[in-house]
Amino acid sequence: MADLRELYQEVILDHTKNPRNYRTMADATAQADGNNPLCGDRVTVYLKLDGDRIVDASFQGQGCAISKSSASIMTEAVKGKTRAEAEVLFDRFHEMITGKPGAPVDGKALGKLAVFQGVSEFPLRVKCASLAWHTLRSALAEKPGIVTLE
Ligand code: ZN
Repeated sequence: MADLRELYQEVILDHTKNPRNYRTMADATAQADGNNPLCGDRVTVYLKLDGDRIVDASFQGQGCAISKSSASIMTEAVKGKTRAEAEVLFDRFHEMITGKPGAPVDGKALGKLAVFQGVSEFPLRVKCASLAWHTLRSALAEKPGIVTLE
């Protein structure tokens, strides 16, 4: 397990240093802002929707390593997915990070998102890891205002 944990940390570090899809999107069709005051994480999620499908996703923001890498991996994970598929993925992800530490994880369904399974051991970090996802959900729902996690 130690090796797997190291690998996961490497992936998180890589996405923190070189976040993917870290850009604004001039032709975004939906966007939302998220705020996690407990940690000081802020994120803006941009989406380009074609009907029901997310054809492009990007983000901007600042925050801790977990919030940044989670947003980066999320934008990769939801690109090409439908709204419903993205919601299912969020539910699975949320289940994992709020579940019992060490509980079995469906790596096949979660893909790279599985690197955040260790977060379940640190309740304060759950908000960091889920901020981008809550913000994504708000963008998909086209809800105005800022998502604030309390
Ligand atoms: Zn954070």
